[in-house]
Amino acid sequence: MVNKVGGIAAPFYTLIFYSHIVIKTLQIKLLPDDDQKQAIIDTFTRFNEACNFVSRTAFEKKLYNKVFLQRIVYRDIRGKFDLAAQLAIRVIAKVVETYKADKDHFHEFRDYGSIVYDQRILSFRGMNQVSISTTKGRILIPMTIGKYGQIPLERIRGQCDLVRKNKLFYLMVAVEVPEEPTVEPEDIIGVDMGIVNIAVDSSGKYYSGDHIRDVRDHNADLRSRLQAVGNNHANRKSAGRHLKKLSGKESRFARNTNHVISKEIVQKAKGTSSAIALENLEGIRMRTTVRKGNRYIHNSWSFHQLRSFIEYKAREAGIPVIAVDPHNTSRECPNCHAISRKNRPERSHFRCISCGLEGEADFIASLNIRNRAAVNQPIVAGAIFDQTIHPAASQRASAVGS
Ligand SMILES: [Zn+2]
Repeated sequence: MVNKVGGIAAPFYTLIFYSHIVIKTLQIKLLPDDDQKQAIIDTFTRFNEACNFVSRTAFEKKLYNKVFLQRIVYRDIRGKFDLAAQLAIRVIAKVVETYKADKDHFHEFRDYGSIVYDQRILSFRGMNQVSISTTKGRILIPMTIGKYGQIPLERIRGQCDLVRKNKLFYLMVAVEVPEEPTVEPEDIIGVDMGIVNIAVDSSGKYYSGDHIRDVRDHNADLRSRLQAVGNNHANRKSAGRHLKKLSGKESRFARNTNHVISKEIVQKAKGTSSAIALENLEGIRMRTTVRKGNRYIHNSWSFHQLRSFIEYKAREAGIPVIAVDPHNTSRECPNCHAISRKNRPERSHFRCISCGLEGEADFIASLNIRNRAAVNQPIVAGAIFDQTIHPAASQRASAVGS
């Protein structure tokens, strides 16, 4: 069995979070002339042929240690493949690296498997040129960083990969970028991950994903019919296959919807200089195990995913996220703070038994979440309680209450 490895280009903008810096993968396009292009192609060919040679030796001799392997193959790499000393070292390092993950199979490298460059064989000359070592010696190639050109090149960390995509050549470079400065919040947006709605924020915006719910309901219906088929007939296997397919499709839908919703919430927070308040995780878990009849809907909907999307998008945008105590957020009155089970005459409706405040349950919960976050902040806004008479809420309240 052969594993194809090498040349896996990173997605255009990968984000990894460190404490206060973000590592971004910068894609730099090379603009070689015909001769330079030939030199690059030739280097790719030799580099990957050398990788395959070293890979064979390593696999046959079961030798995966860089130092020992280098003793055996270094001379041959230099001689047979005519590679510069440091490129030969990179070949060995790359092969050793891939066998770290899997020693059970021979690793074969593609013709255009990525070439790893370090500072000894690559250097940037300003923002427009890069000097790299090739089989034709060092060559100076024009390059373009594109719209991310503001990122200073001295922030480049470590090695970079030379890759070929759609017959073009790119350097994939990891760059340290400071996180966006944290927004000084002037307000707080409370977000309730609801049961009736996917999410509701404290300004009265409902994120329903209606389209997605239609698909989900349709799938739930289809699922129960498939399960019936699976139980009653011999074609259990095919029903099982359909079920699997269905859940994949559904989770892609959920993922996409969560991306759209989280993006909208974070943009709103950014646009209004607001922090985002959410219930902490336990609360969400608590409320997703409600009624047996609805379990399918709750389980299929990925609240945790939505939450983590909001968190990382907020972090990227410098928006603070505040987690609040989730207890009774759906039973407390945001006006008089009376807490009672009876404040919820119906699942989707809130009516305070003490002061009479009414509204849609999820919206009321988002106000409580906002209030709880505000209590601990030095930025309590006076308008919090006025918002209970938000037009969206009272409209919905009368529709539900009638
Ligand atoms: Zn009340």
